[in-house]
Amino acid sequence: MIPFEVAIKIVRDNVVLTGTENIDIKKCLNRVLRQNVKSDMDMPPFDKSAMDGFACRMEDIPNELEIIETVPAGYKPTKEIGKNQCAKIMTGAMIPLGADCVIIVEDTEELENGKVKFTKAKTGVNICIKAEDVIKGDQLLSAGIRITPSVIAALALTGCVSPEVSSKPKVGIISTGDEIVEPYKMPLASQIRNTNSYQLLAQLEEFGCDPTYYGIVQDTKEATGEAIKKAKSENDLIILTGGVSMGEFDLVPGLLKENGFDILFDKVAIQPGKPTVFGRDGSKFVFGLPGNPVSSYLIFEIFVKEFLAGVMGLKNTVKLRRCVLANDFKRKHNVRHAWIPVSIDHNNFATPVDYHGSAHITALPNANGIMSVPVGISELKEGVDIDVRQL
Ligand code: AMP
Ligand code: MG
Repeated sequence: MIPFEVAIKIVRDNVVLTGTENIDIKKCLNRVLRQNVKSDMDMPPFDKSAMDGFACRMEDIPNELEIIETVPAGYKPTKEIGKNQCAKIMTGAMIPLGADCVIIVEDTEELENGKVKFTKAKTGVNICIKAEDVIKGDQLLSAGIRITPSVIAALALTGCVSPEVSSKPKVGIISTGDEIVEPYKMPLASQIRNTNSYQLLAQLEEFGCDPTYYGIVQDTKEATGEAIKKAKSENDLIILTGGVSMGEFDLVPGLLKENGFDILFDKVAIQPGKPTVFGRDGSKFVFGLPGNPVSSYLIFEIFVKEFLAGVMGLKNTVKLRRCVLANDFKRKHNVRHAWIPVSIDHNNFATPVDYHGSAHITALPNANGIMSVPVGISELKEGVDIDVRQL
């Protein structure tokens, strides 16, 4: 059994970075950006009116102002503003030469002589100055970030309409177990429904991978071995669930070796998930996750995401949130690093979710974080600060 820190280092050290592709801006949500993006222009590109109103000289605002033109957004002013003159201007329009402020339309009165008068004592400048947000050449985005809607806005701003992103890692999912049936079926007395495969499909999809599901295989050498062989030939990574413990029908580690994988670890001092397997054959990788759905979920969060983030070149994957522990936490044994699903409330109090064991799948939807309890710690007192990994 190896410590968690050693196992996570093995995972990181074995990452093989995936290739890239260019994707249309409308299709790139949630992908990992693999290029730096610089601005090809100043923003704003010109002095711009922040309001609808009248562009004029600050010193003239006590006076009646002659309107010399109207400047809608998208048009260049044709006249320079002189003494006691103004241009009617719209939000987003270019400020005419000579003007140094915009008085807002709500603070003015149009007079019968066609002039306009400011009706307040003071005005703001109401001009967005050229390049105040972005200077041409500024690096706006760095390789290694997840593409979110606001990142897409920055791509659009710079005209980067076909950003370079990581190719999606291809991941094959195999569930093992004679007792497992698909959720479309009513299980017989000795059976349970397959939750892991669907959970994993969703976890992979959400993380930006390209998952393929290879179905449930029986706990026989032939069925499991064949599925491993096929999934290995068609994917960069295989994830199996079940069959990694010490039972007579836990065949997965042996079959992975028979199929050419080196086993880099097969027992980690973590709870849950002790029998987690990680293997490699050149550029092909495998995780064997314990069959219990909570273990499968947490090991995906902690190990598989770390691996896939490395593969996709994604930086800063883990979002930690400083919380206050809401109740005393105690455990009998402290020789493994524990990962505890917690629910964080609006006041930042984290409460371990009511969770009976690693088969208790319905506990997880109540969790929005995972608390880490390192080796050697048996007790955490209510009220202590803890760093919670956000889900
Ligand atoms: P195993 O790791 O194969 O010993 O399985 C551990 C436990 O997880 C057993 O109670 C299995 O029935 C259960 N299990 C295994 N695979 C799945 C699955 N795909 N969905 C739900 N439960 C599973
Ligand atoms: Mg099994």
